[in-house]
Amino acid sequence: MTEIKEKTYLVIVQCHIVQERCSGFHCEKALYDRTGGFAVYPETINFRSLSLTCGGCCGRALHRKLTNLIRQAQKRDGISKEDIVVHLSSCITKDNYHAPTCPHLDYLKTLIGKLGLDLVEDTWISKTAEKRRQEGLYRNNQCMKETPHG
Ligand code: SF4
Ligand code: SF4
Repeated sequence: MTEIKEKTYLVIVQCHIVQERCSGFHCEKALYDRTGGFAVYPETINFRSLSLTCGGCCGRALHRKLTNLIRQAQKRDGISKEDIVVHLSSCITKDNYHAPTCPHLDYLKTLIGKLGLDLVEDTWISKTAEKRRQEGLYRNNQCMKETPHG
């Protein structure tokens, strides 16, 4: 079994609704800077990555998307699913500016688990958002203008 820090193919799953207004830049930055959910990876590791969305509530399309990825990656480039790790973006796993935690989080995890893929929660972690979570400011989705996400 490949340890998380040795994975060579990263998949970032964004919330389909959030993705309508988010490019995913902060997730990409977190990966580049090896912060947040990506802090475990050595800077020197050579990997590929891809971003996709859950496909919309309830997230069932994610199973089909990942199944396709597993098949294509193996067939085209000999990438085993042991080499793949799925990161659920922080806008799915955490209370944030956009919305509370995804109501289908457990379901998404089940779908990924059924495919035998390793899963990591979180991507970009905003220091300000983390502070506001600790202060309970996002409770009941009290959205505030210009509040950082993730
Ligand atoms: S964590 Fe932030 S940057 Fe990443 S997909 Fe969600 S809203 Fe976009
Ligand atoms: S299932 Fe969760 S992550 Fe997917 S669109 Fe709905 S709220 Fe967003």
